[in-house]
Amino acid sequence: MKAAVVTTFGAPLELLDLPIPTPGAGEVLVRVRASGVCHTDLHAARGDWPDKPALPIIPGHEAVGEVVEIGERVTSVAVGDRVGVPWLHRACGNCEACLSGWETLCPQQQRSGYDVAGGFAEYVVADAAYVAHIPHGIDFLHAAPLICAGLTVYKGLRMVDAKPGDWVVVSGIGGLGHLAVQYAAAMGFQVIATDIDETKLDLAASLGATMTINAKKVDPAGYIHRQIGGAHGALVTAVSTAAFGQALGMMRPGGTVVLNGVPPGSFSVNIYDLVMRAITMRGSIVGTRHDLSRALALAAQRNIRPTVHPADLSSINAILEKMANWPMPGRVVLEFP
Ligand SMILES: [Zn+2]
Ligand SMILES: [Zn+2]
Repeated sequence: MKAAVVTTFGAPLELLDLPIPTPGAGEVLVRVRASGVCHTDLHAARGDWPDKPALPIIPGHEAVGEVVEIGERVTSVAVGDRVGVPWLHRACGNCEACLSGWETLCPQQQRSGYDVAGGFAEYVVADAAYVAHIPHGIDFLHAAPLICAGLTVYKGLRMVDAKPGDWVVVSGIGGLGHLAVQYAAAMGFQVIATDIDETKLDLAASLGATMTINAKKVDPAGYIHRQIGGAHGALVTAVSTAAFGQALGMMRPGGTVVLNGVPPGSFSVNIYDLVMRAITMRGSIVGTRHDLSRALALAAQRNIRPTVHPADLSSINAILEKMANWPMPGRVVLEFP
């Protein structure tokens, strides 16, 4: 099978011909039809994060396709099922995190495309208990970005703890943000989109944002306070650290800011402001299997679809190179004909 492999951090991925893997007990073999490219893949390829993957590694954690083979003791998935292989490849199932519905925080978790071979390949092995079933009506190309980006913003928006009718800011209208606008609108929130790119703001408006703010032209916090007295919540998906501090300033008292984007670095917080206005700030990382099934169901029901830019596996290095400043809103998805 063809696969894109990280053999050295920071070097181009190698396009290799590898043997098709065999699923073990409890595992399935998936013929990959589409595979989304996420910023995390870039971090994996560069070895950016403190816990680096062991090399060689095939990145990719937004693979979708058909199950072509099942291992022993697999009962929840059948050959022919349309499935997605998410970031959470498997968790231990026994620790406090797993038992309390926080399997995404399991210290023994294995991550697709990071700890185990991922979806930048024609075939991928997955744990049958952790694959997502793709609802009818969502094709592979548009399903792929929902497996990480869609799930991440769905969960992040749940963590905002807003109610229908509340004002919720989506900061940064990229791969995550353009899906967050759609999910937030589907959840009944009044959506404020902020970015520094007019094209992305136009996209946000077309996807259901009630208010769009170009942070290059106006101070978004001041503008939001003048217009509506502050937002109830914010989901920050931006790749710039400045956006994180900005989001705190956009909140009305009691508001909640959820951090989804992972730019390197840190930002400073005005403690007095955070305490006196009782602002909550929390991080949110992907989502559980239950979140993923709900995120996919909502996407099917409310026609939530990513803007996709199809590409070939052979162009993966060019894609990753451009990724840091990807000019087009939406998500690059590798297609496997
Ligand atoms: Zn991802
Ligand atoms: Zn666990």
